Amino acid sequence: MTTPTIGVLALQGAFARHGGVLRDLGAAVVDVRRPDDLHGLDGIILPGGESTTMSMLLESSELFDPLAEALDDGLAVFGTCAGLILLASEVIDGRDDQRCFGAIDLRVRRNAYGTQIQSFEADLVIDDLDGVFPAVFIRAPEVERAGAGVSVLARLDGDPVLCRSGRVLVASFHPELSHDGRLHRLFLDEVVTAGQ
Ligand code: GLN
Repeated sequence: MTTPTIGVLALQGAFARHGGVLRDLGAAVVDVRRPDDLHGLDGIILPGGESTTMSMLLESSELFDPLAEALDDGLAVFGTCAGLILLASEVIDGRDDQRCFGAIDLRVRRNAYGTQIQSFEADLVIDDLDGVFPAVFIRAPEVERAGAGVSVLARLDGDPVLCRSGRVLVASFHPELSHDGRLHRLFLDEVVTAGQ
């Protein structure tokens, strides 16, 4: 695979900047809004935003089930903030009708890092990356439990904030806002390696 094709779920939230970062790194980008948009993808990003709204829009656009199937079939995915919530197996403080993909064995608590005005930046030490990564946390979910098969790649005050399990990568922050493409690069490397 020379140029990976990466979908960015574009129903709601902070999807636009992901596309820019991915294009700068040489990927082809597809905004995903309908089931047909899933065809031919090598990976997909579920962005930050509002997981309850995204859950509803995934249902009304009839994307939820085909995306769940693609994830089951091993489509590589990077979920950021609300995207992490959508991929988790257990969500605390969600809406009763909120659906998640259960693609990674995590228990997460929505909005645990505070409100919008309590947003903050923190320098993270990340496995396999030199130096620090300036991570932006906006109404971020806290990972309360990570299952045995989950690798924790970075922590904040002891709690996991970047995790991987198989082809699922999740961050509780917004890497697309950091002017640092290294986590998107990490994801693309995984996509390309798996496609070889
Ligand atoms: N609190 C939001 C939610 O529950 C996530 C916030 C974000 O993605 N920045 O979906």
